[in-house]
Amino acid sequence: MTIAPTRHILGTPIDDAVFEQLESEVRIYCRKFPAVLHRAQGAEVFAEDGRSFIDFFCGAGTLNFGHNHPFIKSRLVEYLAGDGLMHGLDMYTVAKRVFLQTFAEVVLQPRGLDYKIQFCGPTGTDSVEAALKLARKATDRRGMIAFTGAFHGMSRGSLAVTGSRRARRAGSATQQDVTFIPYEDGPLGGFDSIGLIERLLADTSSGADLPAAVIVEPMQMEGGVYPASVGWLRELRAVTEKYGVLLIADEIQVGCGRTGDFFAFEHAGIVPDIVTVSKSISGFGLPLSLALFRRQLDVWEPGEHTGTFRGNQLAFVAATAACQLWQQPSFQAQVATTTGLLDQFRVDLVSETGVRTRGRGAAVGIDLGRTDGPERAARVQQFAFDNGLIVELSGRQDEVVKLLPPLNIEPDLLQIGLGLLRDALRLPSPAPSR
Ligand code: PLP
Repeated sequence: MTIAPTRHILGTPIDDAVFEQLESEVRIYCRKFPAVLHRAQGAEVFAEDGRSFIDFFCGAGTLNFGHNHPFIKSRLVEYLAGDGLMHGLDMYTVAKRVFLQTFAEVVLQPRGLDYKIQFCGPTGTDSVEAALKLARKATDRRGMIAFTGAFHGMSRGSLAVTGSRRARRAGSATQQDVTFIPYEDGPLGGFDSIGLIERLLADTSSGADLPAAVIVEPMQMEGGVYPASVGWLRELRAVTEKYGVLLIADEIQVGCGRTGDFFAFEHAGIVPDIVTVSKSISGFGLPLSLALFRRQLDVWEPGEHTGTFRGNQLAFVAATAACQLWQQPSFQAQVATTTGLLDQFRVDLVSETGVRTRGRGAAVGIDLGRTDGPERAARVQQFAFDNGLIVELSGRQDEVVKLLPPLNIEPDLLQIGLGLLRDALRLPSPAPSR
């Protein structure tokens, strides 16, 4: 095997030949962010060549508590040093017991949520698969209602309720009894989704059988950062309840504090029947994926939906520490500071540049679709990266710059990152080529 010569990006040598030669073409983020990362702390990531980056991407919402939070890390180190059990299938373990107790005390009980907890395979799509399967089994119905712009994961069942044609094509997703309804808002404008759902469910000749469930992201992130309004979520809950259809809230990207509340559906005061949680639940980037559901829906037979990696003990230890951190007043104060600064940034940006922004809490989208579109968004991302900021794009055509900084980012670092974005948004458009 011949190893390709070292590449240079902006004059910096990048030792990435082995990735290019051996890693599948499917890799994606490394193409947008060409650096070989090595260490990380808080909101900062360091490459082996000495460059450092402020992280406004946070593993697509996996690192709400930042990188290597010292409190969570200390619990993990303690557990490893004590030869804590590392794998136990779904056997009872001390780490799992402590997590269940803590999660119930910190998250479920204060919100009056009487949910059972299912540990799914390691990643987000595994909890979506479990949620869809459980909804079908519990209702003895096949159909699902999903929304345009939705993203629920890349395995087959999740793809069937995902909107993106590009994602669906590669997975040869079938409709699998899914009816897509336009989301409350999107690039084509607002839509009376609830009215259409009501019509479909009320009319016994609508051509749509009563579905098992409606699956919704309380705030669509991959679709372009569209937060659903309180009224819309309440009406969705009401119409699903009226027709005995289950409501699945996908909290995988916007849960675990991202919007300022622990769950993004909370501010609407609704209680979904099933909730999917993953990404930031371990608070440390360790894989863990949960389906939460009303006690009465727990119709599983033992072992009916199983898998090897459904009990990541280290993730339990980290998730317990993350719950403890979440309830600390000092942490809550940091979240309030971050969301306050982001709110102000949005107000200033709109008055300075006229671009549209959307978001809630520490999840913000800067929509460049109406101005210069995806090319401008790509230029913003590139400028940001070249100047030490990692920021991802979302939306149908990657026209939205998506900000997901750590909830507890130091205000100074947040301001530096936001300043870089302002500079990037002021970049002149390149002259049209002849
Ligand atoms: N659901 C939502 C809302 C997501 O944002 C994602 C991933 O970004 C998933 C499901 C799938 O999670 P995973 O990529 O961990 O399978």
